[in-house]
Amino acid sequence: MLDVTYDAPKPKVIAGATRDWELVIGLEVHAQVATAAKLFSGASTQFGAEPNSNVAFVDAGMPGMLPVINEGCVAQAVRTGLGLKAEINLWSAFDRKNYFYPDLPQGYQISQLYHPIVGEGEVLVEMGNGTARLVRIERIHLEQDAGKSIHDMDPAMSFVDLNRTGVALMEIVSRPDIRGPEEAAAYVGKLRQIMRYLGTCDGNMQNGNLRADVNVSVCRPGDYEKYQATQDFSHLGTRCEIKNMNSMRFIQMAIDYEARRQIAILEDGGAVVQETRLYDPDKNETRSMRSKEEAHDYRYFPDPDLLPLEIEQAWVDDIAASLPELPDAKKSRFIADFGLSDYDASVLTAEVSNAAYFEKVAEGRDGKLAANWVINELFGRLKKEDHGIEESPVTPEQLGQIVGLITKGDISGKIAKDLFEIVYTEGGDPEEIVESRGMTQVTDTGAIEAAVDAVIAGNPAQVEKAKANPKLAGWFVGQVMKATGGKANPAAVNELVTKKLGL
Ligand code: ADP
Ligand code: MG
Repeated sequence: MLDVTYDAPKPKVIAGATRDWELVIGLEVHAQVATAAKLFSGASTQFGAEPNSNVAFVDAGMPGMLPVINEGCVAQAVRTGLGLKAEINLWSAFDRKNYFYPDLPQGYQISQLYHPIVGEGEVLVEMGNGTARLVRIERIHLEQDAGKSIHDMDPAMSFVDLNRTGVALMEIVSRPDIRGPEEAAAYVGKLRQIMRYLGTCDGNMQNGNLRADVNVSVCRPGDYEKYQATQDFSHLGTRCEIKNMNSMRFIQMAIDYEARRQIAILEDGGAVVQETRLYDPDKNETRSMRSKEEAHDYRYFPDPDLLPLEIEQAWVDDIAASLPELPDAKKSRFIADFGLSDYDASVLTAEVSNAAYFEKVAEGRDGKLAANWVINELFGRLKKEDHGIEESPVTPEQLGQIVGLITKGDISGKIAKDLFEIVYTEGGDPEEIVESRGMTQVTDTGAIEAAVDAVIAGNPAQVEKAKANPKLAGWFVGQVMKATGGKANPAAVNELVTKKLGL
């Protein structure tokens, strides 16, 4: 459970010519299920395969072929639902959504309109500065993806690649609880993070494995609160849906553009028409794609080829028992156990592999110091070479040793940076390196005292100045550190300099 408390962030307000407007946003996120095979066939889901090589007869819509449900996809949807603290429906059913599309040879998409496998859940979306929005999930249903039409390979022809046809998608539908462009991106980011922790979707937006339909409307200040109190949608403005967004940046730009477009219409005395729109990133505008279609336009009906999907509570309980520690819980624990700031804990838990690395470094050591070293030194260094944590040449055991050496006072922070660089580029055991290269910090007061005396004796003019202005003592500390090759204990040097100068 979350031990941190947050305030709700303010909604985004756009000033119109006559009054202020607030944004209301609801997202339908399509997440490709991470499984080896498709939702209703044994064909592979491997990305980047030769076109039309991952196609079973059922995916190609061959007559007489029957879909067979993939238990792995169902388990992943349940797992995702549990990760979003959602209600799991033990009874769900598949419907046909009829439409013609060249890359959907069946002539219909199998989806779950009336009885989705997952019901209501929630996601905490942190916005920084101690604020977070709780976004309600309305439902998650399982459905088939379509294939891909390729229009740019030949001037006269279009090609169809059915590799993606029939791959399982989870459609995660939010309530209209998102109140600004940044929140929308943060919400998608949080879903992505949770699903990557769960291993249910790889979250690769570039490949289209995670994409969102973004519903946007605007209302007057106070209207959203009326909706919240009554759940009556008539308090909200008419929405438009922007289809198929697979970039966090474009999601934000499209929302901003769309809200301003709607405000201009409303302030002009017009009415927003509910419709589906497309975002054009080159022009930064949304364009009408088609008028809003209703469920009856698709002549949805229960798929007669598939029995209702019945799962057992014991099976759901087994999946629940196998869930990993999720981002919110991990973050709270890092704050509580290691004394980390909210920000550092967020950075370290963004990816589960980063969190695991950090924990190994911090175990039995100073957590804050470990966090500094992982975030500033290690991540900074890896980023320079565009490497992920998996490619780190420094193991958590090695970095842990470096942190331990600093805490014990064996090496100074400055020497530790040199040591880190040696371990990063050459490898080796940090303790042995410190030993063999004589990098140990000098804590022996006799040796430090001699260095302090030498600096004072060699700089009489500076001594006079420092006596008049004690702030100049820092100069002596710097000289002594230089003379000892950075190996003197700075605290001991400081103390001795102050004493010897009589400050
Ligand atoms: P449909 O099935 O017709 O697309 P839904 O009721 O399922 O409609 O809603 C689709 C999405 O639109 C949901 O994410 C929902 O939160 C969002 N939504 C509904 N009304 C509004 C509104 N007035 N403003 C913004 N988003 C909305
Ligand atoms: Mg919809």
